[in-house]
Amino acid sequence: MNIVIVGAQWGDEGKGKMIDILSRKVDYIVRYQGGNNAGHTVVAGGKEYIFHLIPSGILHKGKICCIGNGVVVDPMVLIKEINDLRKAGIHIDGRFKISSLAHVILPYHRILDQLRETKRTQRIGTTGRGIGPCYADKIIRCGIRMVDLLNPGVFRDKLKDNLKEKNEIFKKVYDHPGFSFDKIYEEYLDYAKALSGYICNVHLLLNDAVDKKKDILFEGAQGTFLDIDFGTYPFVTSSSTTAGGATIGTGVSPVKIDKVIGVAKAYTTRVGEGPFPTEFPPAFDKFMRNKGNEFGATTGRPRRCGWFDAVMVKESVLLNGISELAIMKLDILDNLKNIKICTGYKYKGKKFREFPYDFEVLSNALPIYKEMPGWDSLTTKAKKYRQLPGNAKNYLSFLQDVLNTKISMISVGSSREETIFLD
Ligand code: GDP
Repeated sequence: MNIVIVGAQWGDEGKGKMIDILSRKVDYIVRYQGGNNAGHTVVAGGKEYIFHLIPSGILHKGKICCIGNGVVVDPMVLIKEINDLRKAGIHIDGRFKISSLAHVILPYHRILDQLRETKRTQRIGTTGRGIGPCYADKIIRCGIRMVDLLNPGVFRDKLKDNLKEKNEIFKKVYDHPGFSFDKIYEEYLDYAKALSGYICNVHLLLNDAVDKKKDILFEGAQGTFLDIDFGTYPFVTSSSTTAGGATIGTGVSPVKIDKVIGVAKAYTTRVGEGPFPTEFPPAFDKFMRNKGNEFGATTGRPRRCGWFDAVMVKESVLLNGISELAIMKLDILDNLKNIKICTGYKYKGKKFREFPYDFEVLSNALPIYKEMPGWDSLTTKAKKYRQLPGNAKNYLSFLQDVLNTKISMISVGSSREETIFLD
């Protein structure tokens, strides 16, 4: 079965843990978008691993892990990740592949990302790792792909052309000295050497796997509301995080995908700027951030926290074709007196039951809440649904009804064992 895992909120839903669990059941795991602005944290065998580019499925012996064409790759970061895995005793040779069509992040992308952010009046909250500018170059057709790095002549011509234009922009617009061709050229040829053994036509490999009836897990990064089209634009990431991105970003046809599983936290978080209707008031926000350890895996940035927004997740179900949901971090809601779920918004006397895309409405929308009593016992020890506190079951059952979507997994702790399977 070919399954897409997608974040149903603003990312950091705990996809890493779900992907780790599901990876055991498949043969191939492929990342389809984003770059090293994503971070999955997986706790396995009492050890914590943080992944930025390589699919976390690499922790499972024999699984083939790929970076699809839709991902943008910073080779320096990738090589470090490969070396760290080697040091931890995880062998990746022969089972890690990078698409020859994936675009490469260059030093000017990283610097441009940071310079543009400082110039804005309204900051996007970018991680400053060059992801956006790299995607921009891809779209304006001056990007450099993995396959280009492998051909020194092609790489030289493209880089020369790019630097001619970019250095002028850096000097004139940003008062930045610009970049030396020789330095980048040599540095990136070294990266190409180090990575050449992993680069191949991943789209062919995956389609061959489909033909052979192998199982593929398509690993989404970030979340639905960070999608370049459907997210809370412009506070979004630069790629298609929704399930459709899985086909564009890997070259596997949509008709070959069997199922989309959505991952949502039992509450909501968002990193960086942008509207967030169900955001907690400051003191409770701080309390929940610490309770849930809501700090970014990649950047350490504190995440903003709020109640579960069913309007958002409903939209996610629709956009992604989610037929099953995994609800994560239920344990973080333990011991709260009351719990709220947003079922609609109000703005200027008008009610909204669907996600509003108008920036003014979304920024000022007042949530309509369903309030439910909390539970004062711990959910972490529950192995079966029936062992959960009654009010936790009521909460989940309300979510399932309001979203009209089956909850198939519930996570009550960070380890693999702390998961309740309903199927
Ligand atoms: P992702 O980007 O969606 O993969 O999310 P992250 O991996 O950045 O964040 C999830 C964090 O929550 C990680 O530190 C996980 O170990 C942790 N986590 C995942 N599921 C649970 C859970 O059910 N309960 C608790 N307490 N922590 C969890």
